[in-house]
Amino acid sequence: MSSDSSPPPNLPIPWPEGVEISTHTGGCHCKKIRFEFEYPADIYSLPVPECNCSICEDRGSMNVYTWENKFRLTSGSEGDLSIYKFHAKRVNHRSCKVCGSYIGALVPVPTPGHPGIIVVNTRTIDNIELKKFQRTPVNGRAW
Ligand SMILES: [Zn+2]
Repeated sequence: MSSDSSPPPNLPIPWPEGVEISTHTGGCHCKKIRFEFEYPADIYSLPVPECNCSICEDRGSMNVYTWENKFRLTSGSEGDLSIYKFHAKRVNHRSCKVCGSYIGALVPVPTPGHPGIIVVNTRTIDNIELKKFQRTPVNGRAW
């Protein structure tokens, strides 16, 4: 790897060492898009940011994070997603083309060969109890 490549980043909220991981499932409202992803088995164990940036505020976003190679579409395909980009256009905000549900985002990582960060909209995860999440205010407007 070339010397000018930046080191791989951590997830915005990294998983603790040795935590038990399981596969969680979710999808959009019309079920065109279904997905699964690896994340700590106790999905409520890590804080979720409650961000005040323009798009999170509009959507009431509450997200968890995993790596691109730990996230799979199990129904539908990339072509069934509409991609929205704004500001620096680095983040691919992904919604179902049919029902409009926002399932989350893909944030490419500039390190060569490193998987991107997947943002999962907690509201689209199966059997979730939103009030159990530890909401943590994040000042995204300052980014
Ligand atoms: Zn849909």
